[in-house]
Amino acid sequence: MKNLIYGGIIALCLIVAAVVVFATRSSGPGGIDSLSDDTQVWVLCTACNASYQMGEKEFYTQLTDRTAQLANPMARALLTCQKCGKDRVVKAVKCDKCGEVFPEGIVPNDFDDRCPKCKFSATEEKRKASKAKADQG
Ligand SMILES: [Zn+2]
Ligand SMILES: [Zn+2]
Repeated sequence: MKNLIYGGIIALCLIVAAVVVFATRSSGPGGIDSLSDDTQVWVLCTACNASYQMGEKEFYTQLTDRTAQLANPMARALLTCQKCGKDRVVKAVKCDKCGEVFPEGIVPNDFDDRCPKCKFSATEEKRKASKAKADQG
């Protein structure tokens, strides 16, 4: 009888785990559907160095498809380059200051949008601005 209860608990745990994995892997149609292709994101090919813009919705739709195809869910999904056709495209950031386009998070342990060229970060500027405001008020 005890074994049966334990078995039941284990089975329940497995079901819960499976549901959690399923729920987190499929990010939910609501997430992508709420995005718009009017919003453009920068992408950069790490193979041929081409950088171009694409619709945010298109980007995340492709990224979700790619992530689903990956054997390792922790691996980083890469999109196919429109220029050279290689699967080496990552999300990029265009520097507001010098116009450099670089892969998101290229500077380790720093803001994702830290420019490797002129060291500008829009996130940091925003934080500075809001902090200055808070200091004043
Ligand atoms: Zn390329
Ligand atoms: Zn820059």
